[in-house]
Amino acid sequence: MERRATRTVLAAVLLGVGGLVMAVAQRQPAAGERPRDREGKAMSGRTLGPEEERVIRGKGTERPFTGKYWNHHANGTYTCRRCGAPLFPSSAKFDSGTGWPSFDQALPGAVREVRDADGMRTEIVCAHCGGHLGHVFRGEGFTSLQTRHCVNSVSLDFVAGEGAPDGAAAKAGATASAGTCAADGGPVPGDAVPARAEAFFAGGCFWGVEYFFDQVPGVIRAESGYMGGRVDDPTYERVCAHGTGHVETVRVEYDPAKVTYEALARRFFEIHDPTQVDRQGPDVGEQYRSVVFYADEAQQRVAQGLVDRLVRRGYAVATRLQPATIFWPAEAYHQDYYARKHGLPYCHTRTNRFGDE
Ligand SMILES: [Zn+2]
Repeated sequence: MERRATRTVLAAVLLGVGGLVMAVAQRQPAAGERPRDREGKAMSGRTLGPEEERVIRGKGTERPFTGKYWNHHANGTYTCRRCGAPLFPSSAKFDSGTGWPSFDQALPGAVREVRDADGMRTEIVCAHCGGHLGHVFRGEGFTSLQTRHCVNSVSLDFVAGEGAPDGAAAKAGATASAGTCAADGGPVPGDAVPARAEAFFAGGCFWGVEYFFDQVPGVIRAESGYMGGRVDDPTYERVCAHGTGHVETVRVEYDPAKVTYEALARRFFEIHDPTQVDRQGPDVGEQYRSVVFYADEAQQRVAQGLVDRLVRRGYAVATRLQPATIFWPAEAYHQDYYARKHGLPYCHTRTNRFGDE
């Protein structure tokens, strides 16, 4: 009976969808942010702030219990922060205790599911603009639908109005083991360390950097891409033509319970030569310069500490420390290059530069 009531409400919400989409279509394109639809055409959209960029385009995760909507109970429709498309009715929202907004149902066709490359989680993106929303988990027992769309608040906007709260009220306080957006699905109490973190390193040709980070225990995935440039959707050709300002960068996704950021940053300084300026070995150009893109102040402090140690040991360190910006994954043929080719990196080897092992 409750589901039937929800469906009636959904129909009402859907009736409103047309109007919302119209409103989106009429919105002027914002400067700096041109989301692309599935055909790759630029769409109108809103300007994103740094945290929104990190989560929506960089597929990041906001800290639990910090977002605008995890503890938000009102009637209406949650929409895509980037393009405005309606995504979830408030009637599908329930309190999961995870610190992220949780919905047991999306509006029909609003959300697309994408299997994570690690095969462990299923990402959800806005079906309209492809913006990252979060992940979907099933079979946890929160509600009768056995589905939890775990969404970052920062990926959402809220439009008050229709969207009856009957389901939300009934689901509030649903008892089930607390879930998490993390990979292992295990409970994460309160302010616990997230089970995943990200680090970004640029040290020459990304094939070699990715290769070495993939060997580190605790690293979930290393991915080749581009960071630090001035344009959206950079391609390898454009980056190599020096037109974009991007640097070949590797995104390292890791489990902080198994490997520390310091251990990763040390590894970074050991597998490339941080004294080379705008090049690495045979690869010459600003896209090969040495950069640590730090995700927060803690990472910055750790990286600076390692640079200082190397300087004290006599190295003229050229590595720059810069705040992380949007990470653009590289083309598929650049991923896992050496693993696929059964080769070894030509441009990177491991060298003990800290002298303490
Ligand atoms: Zn969207």
